[in-house]
Amino acid sequence: MITKAPQYNGKASKRLHVMAKPIGAHCNIDCQYCYYLSKKDLLDYKSGCSKKMDDQDLEHYIRQYIEQQNTPEIVFSWQGGEPTLLGLSYFEKVVRYQKKYQPRGVVIANDLQTNGTLLDDDWCLFLQKNNFLVGLSIDGPELLHNTYRVDKNGHGTFRQVMAAVELLHKHKVNFSTLTCVNNLTSKEPQAVYRFLRDVVRSPQMQFIPIVEQKTFRDTAPQQWQQQDQLVQGDPRLEPSHPESVMESWCVSAKGWGDFLCGVFDEWVKADVGRVFVQYFEASVESWMGRQNPLCTLNSLCGKGLAMEPNGDVFSCDHYVYPEYKLGNIYSERMDAMALSQRQQKFGFAKSKTLTSQCQGCDYLFACHGECPKNRFMRSHKGDPGQNYLCAGWKRFFAHIDQSLAYILRANRLPVTHGHYRDKGVV
Ligand code: SF4
Ligand code: SF4
Repeated sequence: MITKAPQYNGKASKRLHVMAKPIGAHCNIDCQYCYYLSKKDLLDYKSGCSKKMDDQDLEHYIRQYIEQQNTPEIVFSWQGGEPTLLGLSYFEKVVRYQKKYQPRGVVIANDLQTNGTLLDDDWCLFLQKNNFLVGLSIDGPELLHNTYRVDKNGHGTFRQVMAAVELLHKHKVNFSTLTCVNNLTSKEPQAVYRFLRDVVRSPQMQFIPIVEQKTFRDTAPQQWQQQDQLVQGDPRLEPSHPESVMESWCVSAKGWGDFLCGVFDEWVKADVGRVFVQYFEASVESWMGRQNPLCTLNSLCGKGLAMEPNGDVFSCDHYVYPEYKLGNIYSERMDAMALSQRQQKFGFAKSKTLTSQCQGCDYLFACHGECPKNRFMRSHKGDPGQNYLCAGWKRFFAHIDQSLAYILRANRLPVTHGHYRDKGVV
């Protein structure tokens, strides 16, 4: 969605964010919990679409993306599948096309999400020279990482990823780590955190809860039958239950809360201001009364579109299903799709469809009902559309409430939310 900012260059400011997948769902490894690999079967790749954006398509995309924005910084995001499968020369071309169309005075930035297995010295030299921000997927110490992040022969990829970590440090590439919290990693918050802090020396830790119902490969979010939604607390919502509706590798709501609290307890002991954990930094913003920078914990959806290699554009990376296709960059403008009524409806639905349980929650200011993709159970009161992770989020927010108030006050910053908010704030 376009954010209307005051003015840039004498005209209304216009900003877009698209997560481009120039190689679609193709990947060189086979992570068992990947939500994207199954898109190969779901999307219409067969009707004349090659599995990668060719030169002409790439130039068309980069040109449109730049020309349709009016902002001092344009951010390109590259994802997959595994985008490094396209080869270094492909991304050299990306940078060439960006320079060709770069307006004077505008900064162009790139971020690239990768499993790291194909990175080498040449890649890292390129990434550093062109100031790419790299997101590296790593799930924790060897045993935890290797359980699900395996290659096509079922072998763990830990050693290759650790080699990538060393290369990224050696070449001073700007990077963050992305760690999937699943049924196993969720049980080891201390081990995962200490590993990322001390061994990986992660400059920025991002955690993502792995949540998928068994129907996720062919049923889009919000297309679930309301009468089929289980009530919060039903044992079949537990991934470990023999009749669970969830994939076995998912994190449970309780596991998610335990994991976040466990990591927070380690972080708050000695690492505040020293180690960057994205959820904690983002929560500080919420406690101060600012907008949470993470879409999942913000009140609005739809600021970032997703694009497949054939130019099809979708409402969000987690909504790459035919029902959520907005159009195609060869027949529609990206800014028109981002501003369309459909996308606006998608964006506002997040707050308009909150259950009464969320509306009355003490931590609505920090959670906003979290990602709608995870709202597939009934609340205790029976409303459909309660977030699966609710109990975990609530436990985490209650757990950090007092500490965040303390940290903010110690830094002479306002505490506008939570049970320990400044006197006089209602
Ligand atoms: S659907 Fe989820 S991931 Fe997508 S914009 Fe909304 S909160 Fe973010
Ligand atoms: S913690 Fe639960 S009830 Fe509260 S806003 Fe989040 S999902 Fe809703």
